[in-house]
Formats: sequence, structure tokens, C-alpha cells
Amino acid sequence: MTSAPGSLESLRSRNRLRVLETVQQRGAISRVDITRATGLSRTTVSSLVAELLSDGVLSELTERAEPLVPSPGGGRPATLLGLNPDGGGVLGVHLGHDGVRVVLADLSGAVLGERQREIDVDHLPADSLAYVADAALELVAASGQATDRIIGMGVAVSAPVQLVSRTLRTPSMLRDWTDTDIAAQLRERVGVPVHVGNDANLGAMAEWTFGVGRGADDLIYLMLSDGVGAGLVLGGRPYEGAAGAAGELGHVTVVDGGYVCRCGNRGCLETVVGTHALVGAVAHSRGPDTTLADVVELAVAGDPGCRRVVVDAGRTIGRALSGICAMLDPKLVIVGGKIAAVGAPLLEGVREVLSRRLPPAISQGVVVTAGRLGDRAEVLGAVALATRSTSAHLLAP
Ligand SMILES: [Zn+2]
Repeated sequence: MTSAPGSLESLRSRNRLRVLETVQQRGAISRVDITRATGLSRTTVSSLVAELLSDGVLSELTERAEPLVPSPGGGRPATLLGLNPDGGGVLGVHLGHDGVRVVLADLSGAVLGERQREIDVDHLPADSLAYVADAALELVAASGQATDRIIGMGVAVSAPVQLVSRTLRTPSMLRDWTDTDIAAQLRERVGVPVHVGNDANLGAMAEWTFGVGRGADDLIYLMLSDGVGAGLVLGGRPYEGAAGAAGELGHVTVVDGGYVCRCGNRGCLETVVGTHALVGAVAHSRGPDTTLADVVELAVAGDPGCRRVVVDAGRTIGRALSGICAMLDPKLVIVGGKIAAVGAPLLEGVREVLSRRLPPAISQGVVVTAGRLGDRAEVLGAVALATRSTSAHLLAP
């Protein structure tokens, strides 16, 4: 049931969601800190927390918060609140370009089970969705939970997603998926609510919720895999732009007259720093059987050719990011995706160009770091999306 916008009921639902999102984002937080983070009154927070505890959505954690400044009366440390891990299960799915990953997690984001398979996702929508449905049902069965304990499924897709309908925005990016209603098909087969989001946006949400971006209210996440994209968190909220396509950095032209991209343009960032481009650059001298794992391993071991390819990729990314950093002044630039496993040489390339191209006031403040969740970020972001979406709808009183 949806309450009329502006009604007292909808205000209470919105406040309840704010409390829930704050707890989810911080992992463990006291009532006082929820009041501080949300700007709600102590009475409102206390009443909403009581309600969420009695609904089994939140739980009191056994660990207690040590106050930063001990109270003069030596009062008890505050009780910490977290999402109740036993509140239900959540499914997360990442439909990459050449593989599918499915996880079952609890409400705190801890992974209970995982399945993955290499498959030509771009060209085989029916097979990909059949695998997702089978893997999801298998994971739920293996966990011993009934399907009605699963609060929802999040799906990370490698294309922009419409803000309102949550369907693919530009099917030309995934031509064979035109007219495939991902949410409807999976809801039908798995029997749970399904929420679809862009994979780079969800990677950003995951690093912000569970990873290295925890507590950073302004960050840019860069997903470097077969596809290249960015996700933003600004002012403490995931930012999707006016039409849901914010962060489509992979499809900004960086080489005039370069290779034709899957989006139809030429010389997109993705055609220069995506896995195919990096592997292709190395395969020229190392032979056609070169894989991404070879490039990563050799670059880490200090092979000059592979290192060069990776540092150059970092520099190209730095150039693409510099204008954005100048505009947004982020605290963190998080580099994630399969290529981020290379680590230092890639980050060095990004840092070098940012420090050269940005005013010191910004370049000295921005930290460029690798993601903590590795190539699992997108699927964990899908878990976070499902938890948040469910918080918004089903968990509203
Ligand atoms: Zn493109």
C-alpha cells in the first residue's frame, strides 16, 4: 500500500527508511548517532527504532559503543543497533558481459552462498536468466530457508537503467536484451520482488555500504572490467542523475576515430581501458592466448610491457576523471572491477595525472584507492539495492 505523498503516514515511512538506511550504511550505530546522522528528533528516532526492533528488522548488537568522551557521570556505553541478520535473506545477481554471479546474503550483507558461471551474457539473455533462476533457488534451498523468508533480489546489469521503471534504458547497449523484462521474468521464476540497477552504480553503493568507502559521503567508484563505468555517492546519497544514467564514463570519447564501441560511438574510454583493450595490447607481443589473468600477474611481477599497459590505462582514466574531480571534489576515488586486481601500477597512473591536472586544493584532498570488495562489489551492491528497496516498500508500516 502506498500512502499519499505529504501525508503523515508517508512522512513516517520516509523517516523509517532514513533510519534504516543509516543503520545499513554504518553497519553498527547507536541511537544518538542515528539522531545526529538523520537530523530527526530523539523522540522520533527512539519510536522508529522501537518499531523496527519489534518488527525484527533491527537487532541490538551485543558489542557496545565506547563513548569518545566519557560522560561525567560515567554512564553506560550506548547499545549499538544493526540490521537483524536473521531478519531474512537477500539475493544479489550480477549480469556481467561474459559471466553471471549469484549470491544469497543475510540482511547485514554477509554472504551465505555463491554460484557463478561463465556465459556470453550479452548475447544469451534466455540462458543467462535461466541460470540465475536455477542458481537462486538452489542457494535458497541449500540455506534451509523458505522462499518467503527471502525479502527480494537485486540485479546489477551492464547498461543504464530507467530511474522509474527500472528497466534497461538503452537496449542498443545490450541489443539482444531488447524487450527482455528482467525483473518480471525473474520474479515469475524465483517468486520474490526483483529490483534492477546499473552495475557500476551498484558497485559504488557496495563499496560505500560494505567496503572501503564506508563513512565517505562523497566518492566516485570506477568499475574496470569488460565494461567500464562509474558510480557516484554525493552528499551521503547514491547519485543517479536526472535520468538514471549518471556515471556513464565508459562511453565518453577519449580517442577521436578510435575503435567502434558497443554503444555505437568511437573511441570510448571502455575501448581503451576495458579488459579486451588491455589484453589485446599485450597479446600483440605475447600471442593470442593471453588472458586478463596473465596481464594482471605479469604487471604485478613487474613485467615492463604489462606494467606500461596498466600505467597508461591509469593515466587515461586520470584524464577522464580530472574534470569530474574538479567539479565534485570527492573524498575518495575507488578503483574496482576485474582490472583493479593489478593494484599499485594502475593507481599510480591515475594519481599521477590527477595531481598534474587538478588544482592542489582538490588533488591534495582526494584519495585514490583500490576497492575492498574486488570483483564482488557489483553483486553485493545488488544485495544492498534489494535490501534498500524492500526497506522502502515492504517494510513500511
Ligand atoms: Zn561506448
